[in-house]
Amino acid sequence: APKLVWFRSDLRTHDNSALSAAAAQGPVIAVFLRSLKQWQHHGHGANKLDFWARGVTALREDLAKLNIPLLHRDIDSFDEAPDALLALAREYGASGLHFNREYPLNEWQRDAAVLGTFQKTNLEVKAHTDAVAFAPGELLTSQGDYYRVFTPFAKAWHRQLESHHLALHDAPRPQTRLTILSDPLPPPPRLDTSPVDACLWPAGQGRAAERLKRFLHYRSRHYHERRDYPVLRGTSELSPYLALGMISHRQCLQAVLAENEGSLIEGHPGLVAWGNELIWREFYQHIVVGFPRVCRYHAFQQHTEALPWRDDDPSFRAWCEGRTGYPIVDAAMRQLTQTGWMHNRLRMVAAMFLTKHLLIDWRRGESFFLHHLVDGEFAANNGGWQWAASTGTDAAPYFRIFNPTTQSRRFDPEGKFIADFVPELSKIPAKVRHAPPRDLLDTVSYPAPIVDHRAARQRTLNAFKSLPS
Ligand code: FAD
Repeated sequence: APKLVWFRSDLRTHDNSALSAAAAQGPVIAVFLRSLKQWQHHGHGANKLDFWARGVTALREDLAKLNIPLLHRDIDSFDEAPDALLALAREYGASGLHFNREYPLNEWQRDAAVLGTFQKTNLEVKAHTDAVAFAPGELLTSQGDYYRVFTPFAKAWHRQLESHHLALHDAPRPQTRLTILSDPLPPPPRLDTSPVDACLWPAGQGRAAERLKRFLHYRSRHYHERRDYPVLRGTSELSPYLALGMISHRQCLQAVLAENEGSLIEGHPGLVAWGNELIWREFYQHIVVGFPRVCRYHAFQQHTEALPWRDDDPSFRAWCEGRTGYPIVDAAMRQLTQTGWMHNRLRMVAAMFLTKHLLIDWRRGESFFLHHLVDGEFAANNGGWQWAASTGTDAAPYFRIFNPTTQSRRFDPEGKFIADFVPELSKIPAKVRHAPPRDLLDTVSYPAPIVDHRAARQRTLNAFKSLPS
């Protein structure tokens, strides 16, 4: 009897733990449950939902090459997943279900419910570790706790890493054709807003593999020197593909090993630095399991819940729309809304600006980001926001407040990134683009800063100092 393989955010046939384990036992039927309402309730917007839909289309084609049919069902919420899967298993006479684990709380609970439902039957059910090298709980401090700080986590990760942790799973060989046909895919979801141009983020494992190859060839050797300069595009731009599993972290790290004489620790600084970012990704996946309060809208550092966040809707709107009067912040926010992606340096600058200059709750920014990001991913996004707000694990100390103008001069020295995304400033000399003088503002119709850096900084320092420790 065939096994069902339930695809979620692992939209690939190569190096897919669940698929390869199921296929080793016999024929496979793939299943995708689209839970649009639940994903929207989580805060995903058109960009990610569209990318997801295109990813499923690409997966269907990749599966067809292996003669694996893809069944597609719509469910409203995760609660419906156990019954929907059990009904499919019965309908198609499947003998079991395989899937790869996901770690944020709602996904974890959904998966526990599915496991529970299947365990009550005579059907086999298996959840695989796939998105991380170490399952959350496998890497703990000597006291048996989850790590709260990245560096010791990364050291333990390297120390305990064995070759099987990163071993690639072969894509299954084409199976004998079943009599079951793939379901036609439903039309793309109708949403209030339209997604960014699909050409920006072509979906599928083939496109992800090309991106990785291009990154390795053209950018990886300079990664450590160029990764902080948005205009240089020195990073891989693989995050949307990693977030939906169109490429695996193992494929990425194996590529580093292959290019770097088998090491993730020494050798080429660009490759080593890039590999390290993938460990950050894993760190935050462990955090959501170890400290599930972060999945319940709570700060990691509980005493920071007392911060006097301001309800300043006009300023929040100005930030969302890229009209704060701080050109680098505005360029960053417009990059997000225009392309569905933002450079990491700018995510830090924009998030710190919202939380530390405007003293607006990080949760509002987190949800705005998630709504627009094509790579929107709960663990990394929450981790990044709480880092910037100094409420998180291993967060920036509260007194370290980026001066956006200094950041701009350092990381966009020629003002080119600003000119790309805030075209009204392209007409003024590059030298003054970081902080346009007031007399030029009217001529280019660009707003004056909505907040004064020094006063805002002091307000935030006072707010943190007044916290009970
Ligand atoms: P590269 O520099 O090429 O890095 C390779 C991969 O490593 C990335 O694709 C990503 O999967 C992972 N990675 C890199 N940096 C981090 C990090 N700090 N934390 C976790 N993983 C990392 N990343 C997301 O994937 N989804 C998000 O929703 C997200 N939200 C963020 C919000 C804020 C406020 C901040 C500060 C960071 C956020 N990040 C998020 C992390 C990081 O900014 C992006 O992963 C990165 O910019 C993606 O670009 P890239 O693929 O070119 O990265």
